Amino acid sequence: MDINHQQQVDVTFDRDHIWHPYTSMIGPLPVYPVVAARGVYLELEDGRRLIDGMSSWWCAVHGYNHPVLNKALKEQSERMSHVMFGGLTHAPAVELAKKLVAMTPGALDRVFFCDSGSVAVEVAVKMALQYMHARGESGRNRIATIRGGYHGDTWHAMSVCDPVGGMHSLYTGRLPIQYFAPRPEVRFGDDWREEDFEPMAALLEEHRDRIAAVILEPVVQGAGGMWFYHPDYLKRLRECCTELGILLIADEIATGFGRTGRLFASEWAGITPDIFCVGKAITGGYMSFAAVLATGEVADTISSGHPAEFMHGPTFMGNPLACAVANASLTLLTEHSPLERIAQIEQHLREGLAPAVSLPGVADVRVLGAIGVIEMKRPVEMASMQRRFVEHGVWVRPFGRLVYAMPPYIIRDEELERLTAAMVAVVAEE
Ligand code: PLP
Repeated sequence: MDINHQQQVDVTFDRDHIWHPYTSMIGPLPVYPVVAARGVYLELEDGRRLIDGMSSWWCAVHGYNHPVLNKALKEQSERMSHVMFGGLTHAPAVELAKKLVAMTPGALDRVFFCDSGSVAVEVAVKMALQYMHARGESGRNRIATIRGGYHGDTWHAMSVCDPVGGMHSLYTGRLPIQYFAPRPEVRFGDDWREEDFEPMAALLEEHRDRIAAVILEPVVQGAGGMWFYHPDYLKRLRECCTELGILLIADEIATGFGRTGRLFASEWAGITPDIFCVGKAITGGYMSFAAVLATGEVADTISSGHPAEFMHGPTFMGNPLACAVANASLTLLTEHSPLERIAQIEQHLREGLAPAVSLPGVADVRVLGAIGVIEMKRPVEMASMQRRFVEHGVWVRPFGRLVYAMPPYIIRDEELERLTAAMVAVVAEE
């Protein structure tokens, strides 16, 4: 088969029959037919090439069509694409677990593979509840979190998303009731103020008998508001959870694998969570896959209870193709020390987005690692702004009041300049 043969995209069928993320089937937002993606570029059907500012929602950290990832996928597909993980195991899964144990903080050394970020959050919550059950503390069956978070679209994941910005109102009375502390207010880089942690401390103290775990995105809250908060919040939280016997779940699905300038955002605070979710960039954006790591204490407690088994086991658990491509992706990450490049990307984003600070429609500009955010004073009109970005030759998808970029780490300086210049030009028209 000629892989250069261009696939035609039937956009009329797409519009009439296919749901895209968060869109209506009646009058959906426009979609752009893409026929190929190479390096940092998305290639549209009409021949336009766009610099990707989104890494396909934090995933494609090495860019697209990467020869090393392609090779890993191809070779594994010729050995075995998939086998059930019940009663079987294989080298790609074992190698990946070894890599994850070695690269994640401290005592996280028990690994559960699953299908996607949202499922990883479900698994983490189930682990916390089963842990409390095993300890004879079944009354501790709620989760606490901070406002402004996003953890996915499945049931428990939704229940810990921001109650106003998320989908709580749609499911009022149906979602499990969880505990919400205010969003941390001390920004990353500002001087820490102890009072920032007081509401969470009070909440955990008051409801300690009901709370199994706290879940949050360390340092960077992503889809809930692209907010960067002070790592000392996490230090206090770690201490408080330990003192009260509450588990700490770090959702590193968006922040993991270098995005914030450290391999994992928890490292900014030097903490080891009890349960740790990774996803998205784990396969370099090649396919949906995730992992949940737990400490030996969590795993052994669960396994000493009744039932002793952890009650989860999806069909595609430990999928060999996903493990093989993840192994190649993590090798690229560790061998090519992207943290140095990410520090340079951070500097370019800072310089490139700086002119936006003084624009009338702009409320705030913030940058951390390979994440650059322009927060507008008013919500933007997504479709028209998206069109203007495409006209500028870049792919940026804003939401709410946020116009942001998190490019693949392979982006070159001149491409970053084009990306940030387009962002500044487009928000200047608002
Ligand atoms: N957790 C965080 C922090 C996320 O950003 C996301 C997705 O954006 C998820 C969980 C859900 O991951 P997935 O979309 O793979 O289900």
